[in-house]
Amino acid sequence: MRRFWQKGMIALARSSRLKHFMQSNRGASKLATRYVGGDNVVEALDCANRLSRSNIRSSLFYLGEYVDTHELVDRNITSINRAIDMISLSELDGHLSVDPTQVGCSIDWDKGAAAFWPIAEALKKAVGERDGVHCLMIDMEDDSVVERTVALYHALHADGYPVALTLQAYLKRTEGDLEKIIRQGGKVRLVKGAFVAGSDIAHVGNAAVKANYYRLVDRMLSKEALEYGFYPIFATHDHEIHGYAIETARANGWPQCSYEIEMLYGARDDVAEELSAHGERVRLYLPFGADWWPYAIRRIGENPKNLNLLLRSLI
Ligand SMILES: Cc1cc2nc3c(=O)[nH]c(=O)nc-3n(C[C@H](O)[C@H](O)[C@H](O)COP(=O)(O)OP(=O)(O)OC[C@H]3O[C@@H](n4cnc5c(N)ncnc54)[C@H](O)[C@@H]3O)c2cc1C
Repeated sequence: MRRFWQKGMIALARSSRLKHFMQSNRGASKLATRYVGGDNVVEALDCANRLSRSNIRSSLFYLGEYVDTHELVDRNITSINRAIDMISLSELDGHLSVDPTQVGCSIDWDKGAAAFWPIAEALKKAVGERDGVHCLMIDMEDDSVVERTVALYHALHADGYPVALTLQAYLKRTEGDLEKIIRQGGKVRLVKGAFVAGSDIAHVGNAAVKANYYRLVDRMLSKEALEYGFYPIFATHDHEIHGYAIETARANGWPQCSYEIEMLYGARDDVAEELSAHGERVRLYLPFGADWWPYAIRRIGENPKNLNLLLRSLI
């Protein structure tokens, strides 16, 4: 049933007619404002400032994935740079999520990857020496690009940029990728993974993925990882995992400010507030941009309980 629902939402996400209708329909704005921080970076920063007053941090993300023309890549890079300019004027963490496909990697991997250097340089300059958890967080896409994305992270890290990598618990290789970054004292955002793959390379099924997530939490919050200066970020809405990570952190002597829990803006804001009120460091992934429909409908697809919200916005 859940799979059927999710497939239906993905079909809605791909409909360009529906996208045009929804993005130009004022009635649909409820759906947009639930999951998206604003149409532009100024609105997104307002939203980030509002969250920071409740002690919740943000990771800004410009909506523009899977672009297939150079014009759209240029538009994305301009918007990302604009976000960095605005971050430099604020007191927020310089925390920006970027998908390799946003900057042209799906057109030409090497050219797209090269676009990360000026972005990382601009972010490094923008935050200077000021306090905060600053990083260019590289999002992770399907298994065909994992090897190249991991290599991209290491190249940026070797050049001294404030960079972090998203790793997926569903992939068997993640344990090895993670170990190398732990030993370098880097930063990793751990997700379950939004993709599926065969049992030759992946853990198959929710239970197997979750079991591997727990194993990776153990390693990320080990006493050894703390000594290396590693910074773990647990990006999940799974409250059992939140509880497990918090208990493991306590047992192994990790202070609350030395790791993070991250969720998507609008998905479980009640949980985010509760964790933050208990002193946990919480971050929300905060997308912005006018092209919000495919992103918002995928979020609806992740939880059938969101049916009401969808119907209210469609009618
Ligand atoms: C900050 C962040 C960054 C991410 N980046 C990547 C990435 O780079 N690459 C990648 O492959 N995946 C990424 N993901 C997606 C991730 O891999 C999962 O597909 C997604 O988070 C759902 O898994 P879950 O861990 O939340 O657990 P689930 O088992 O899916 O959900 C746990 C609980 O949370 C609820 N829930 C989940 N989603 C929603 C929602 N949208 N609205 C309301 N309730 C919800 C579920 O109903 C369930 O009760 C990211 C996720 C987050 C939070």
